[in-house]
Amino acid sequence: MKYCVCLLTTVLAAAPLKVLIIDGQNNHPWQTTTPILKQTLESTGLFQVDVATTPPAGGDMSTFKPKFSNYRVVVSNYNGDAWPKETQAAFEAFVGEGGGFVSYHAADNAFPDWIAYNEMIGLGGWGGRTEKNGAYIRFKAGQFERQSIPGPSGHHGKQHEFPVIVRQANHPITKGLPQIWMHAQDELYDRLRGPAPDTMTVLATAFSDPDMDGSGEQEPVLMALTYGRGRVFHTTLGHSVEAMRCVGFIATLQRGTEWAATGKVTQKIPPGFPTRYETSVR
Ligand code: ZN
Repeated sequence: MKYCVCLLTTVLAAAPLKVLIIDGQNNHPWQTTTPILKQTLESTGLFQVDVATTPPAGGDMSTFKPKFSNYRVVVSNYNGDAWPKETQAAFEAFVGEGGGFVSYHAADNAFPDWIAYNEMIGLGGWGGRTEKNGAYIRFKAGQFERQSIPGPSGHHGKQHEFPVIVRQANHPITKGLPQIWMHAQDELYDRLRGPAPDTMTVLATAFSDPDMDGSGEQEPVLMALTYGRGRVFHTTLGHSVEAMRCVGFIATLQRGTEWAATGKVTQKIPPGFPTRYETSVR
């Protein structure tokens, strides 16, 4: 009997969470960043990652029909042509029925007209988004509020190092992180807008410095949401290979992906996490 329990425990511990990364079109070099995402996730020992690559821009998207239900979590590194209606419906069903979704960097530029997708990511940018797509989310007097003024959506200033400030320290993804940590040089997305459903928790913000051509606001950079029974982790970080080397980017991607997949985070905060004043890269 003891033998059986041990064997079962071993089998369960060894079963990785299956992840599907989607790429194939992006205004960023997905051919370079997808292998980094895959390695970052698989290095935890928790995940087994497959990649689904769409046809190129302008190609026949009707062939793009990944079997989402084979996976615990989908990570999007995709910003391109609309998916076929059938694939959109399958993705909505996957997340709605409890699947996980991670929106990485420019994935939140994608699909401005796909309502369910925007409810999943909460906030998006570019693609002609305006006030018709939803509010800005602003951090005022210690609270987040909707700002429904007219205006465009999606912008970033010059790339630079910036402090990321944890705004919800009790969430499984952020629990144990330093309250403020210095992120390696990256784009800082500003003026995102979207439906920002009540299920959206802004986990962390960063100040978009007007001296760097930013908005002058605390901009959401890490978010957690639910959509139906599914969980969504949204990181706006990770523009370049250099930004993806930040231990803060790495750890939040790993933790956010586990949370999206299971609702829990079992990973420890890695050694060498950036401090308030110093970046840390791998
Ligand atoms: Zn970028």
